[in-house]
Amino acid sequence: MLMRRGQDIGAHRGRGGSLRRRLVVSMSLLLAAVCAAMSFATVFTQRDYLREDLDQSVSEAAERHQGALLRLWTDDATSLGFLRLRGQPVGTLGARVDSSGRVLTAGVVTDDGRLRVLSAAQRTALGGLTANGALRTRVVPDLGEYRLTALKVDGNSVIAGLPMADVQRMTNRLMVAELVIAGIGLTAAGCVGAVVVRRQLRPLGRVATTAAEVARVPLDRGEVTGLSRVPERDTDPATEAGQVGVALNLLIDHVESSLAERQRTEERMRRFLADASHELRTPLASIAGYAQLMTGGTGELDPELAWRRVSAQSTRMTGLVEDLLLLAHLDEGRPLCTAEVNVATLVAEAVWDARAAGGDHIWQVVLRLDASVTVAADHARLQQVLANLLANARVHTPAGTRVTVTAEATDAECVVRVHDDGPGIPAKVLSSVFERFTRVDVSRARTVGREGGTGLGLAIAAAITRAHCGRIEVRSEPGDTEFTVWLPLTEHALPAGRRK
Ligand code: ADP
Repeated sequence: MLMRRGQDIGAHRGRGGSLRRRLVVSMSLLLAAVCAAMSFATVFTQRDYLREDLDQSVSEAAERHQGALLRLWTDDATSLGFLRLRGQPVGTLGARVDSSGRVLTAGVVTDDGRLRVLSAAQRTALGGLTANGALRTRVVPDLGEYRLTALKVDGNSVIAGLPMADVQRMTNRLMVAELVIAGIGLTAAGCVGAVVVRRQLRPLGRVATTAAEVARVPLDRGEVTGLSRVPERDTDPATEAGQVGVALNLLIDHVESSLAERQRTEERMRRFLADASHELRTPLASIAGYAQLMTGGTGELDPELAWRRVSAQSTRMTGLVEDLLLLAHLDEGRPLCTAEVNVATLVAEAVWDARAAGGDHIWQVVLRLDASVTVAADHARLQQVLANLLANARVHTPAGTRVTVTAEATDAECVVRVHDDGPGIPAKVLSSVFERFTRVDVSRARTVGREGGTGLGLAIAAAITRAHCGRIEVRSEPGDTEFTVWLPLTEHALPAGRRK
C-alpha cells in the first residue's frame, strides 16, 4: 500500500507540479488585474483631461463667436463670417440660431482653412441646444462627434463646436500603447515568474523524490538501514522547502531508529527463546533418557544414581524456570517489596553464605560505612544480586582465589564492590556479560546445578539493580576482576546533619 503510494508520488511528479502551474497562473492573473486597473485608470484620467481641455476650447470658441457677432455681424442673421477670422482651429464649427431655436446657418472650418457650409441634415443635429454655455456631445452626420455649446447673441444665439475625433484618437492610441506595454510586461513577468517559481520549488521536488523512495522501501520486514535522506542542500531551515526537508529527515531518522530498535528487540527475543528452549531441552532430554533406562529395567543402571540425576536435572530446570520468571517479572516492571535494608548486614550475611559454600577460597569483607546505612530495597532480591556475584567469584575462579567484598557509602549512594584475583572474564564476552545467556563456556552440556551455569546470573543481578534505580558495572583483567553495584540510599541513611 505504502509502496503504491510511493509510486503514485513519483508518477504525479513526472507529470509536472500543478502547484507550480497554479502559482504561475495566479501570479499572472494578479499582475494582469493590476495592469488592467492601471491602464484603465490612466486612459480614463487622460480622456477626462483631454475632454476638459476640449470643453475649454469649445467655450472659448463660443465666446469668440459671440464677441465677433456682437461687434461685426449682428445685422446679418445668416452670416458665418466670424468663422473666417484668423486663429480658428481646423474643424471649428459655428452656427447661428434664431430666437425660436431654428438653426439658420452653420459651417465648419476645413483642413485647408476654408469655410464649408453644413447641409440641412447636419444642421438638424445641432438643434435644441440651450444657449446657456452648457456643453453637449452631438453626432453631426459626416463630421462625427462634436462638443457643442451655445451662447446668446442679441435675442438669437450662436453655436460653437469642436470635433471629438482628436480626443478619441489620442485616447485610443493611449489604450493601444497601454495594452501593448501591459502585454509585453505580463509575458515577461510570467516567464520570469515561471522560472523563479520553478527554481524555488525544485527543492520541494527533491524532497518529494526522497519521500517516494522511502515509501517504496518495505519497512515491515527484515533489517531496515540506509533509508534515503533529503540532500543537505535542501535542508536550509531559512527556507520553507528547507524546513520541509529538515522535518522529513527527522522523520526518516526516527523511523529508522525505531525500526532498528524493533529489529534488535525481536532479535534479542528470538535468541532468548532459542537459548531458553535449549537450556530446558538438555535436562529434559536427560530426564527422559534416565526414565527410559529405568523403564527398560536395564541391570547396568544403579536406580539410586538414576534418581539422583533425575532429581538434579529437575532442580536445574526449576532454577532455570524461576530465573526466567523473575526476569520476566522485572521486565514487566512489577513492584518490588520495598523495605529498609541494612547494607552492612546484607553484605556480611552474603559473604558468610559464600564462605560456607566455597571453603577453598579466601573470603574477605571490608565495611567502610556506618552501621545505620540502609537502602530502600527488596531484601530477597538484593540478597540474590550479591549471591549471584559471589557465586560467580567462587565458581568461575580456581581454589585459593581471594574474594574481597567492600561496602561504602557516599552522600547519596551506597557502593558494593565484589573483587577477585581469579583469571578474569575474557575480553570478548566482557561487554555482553550482563546479557541473558552469556557464558564463557558455551558448552550447554553441563547440567550440574548452579555450577553448570545458565548464563542468567548477571542478567538477573543487572535487572534487579536497575529495578532499584541503581546500576552495576564490571571491569576485568587477569588477576583483577571487580563488579561494582551502586544503590541509592534511603533518606534517613544520610548523616544526621544532612537529614531533611
Ligand atoms: P553463569 O550462570 O554462567 O554464571 P552469569 O551471568 O552469572 O552466568 O555469568 C556469565 C559469565 O561471566 C559466566 O559464565 C562466567 O564465564 C563469567 N563470569 C562471571 N563472573 C566471573 C568472575 N568473577 N570471574 C570470571 N568469570 C566470570
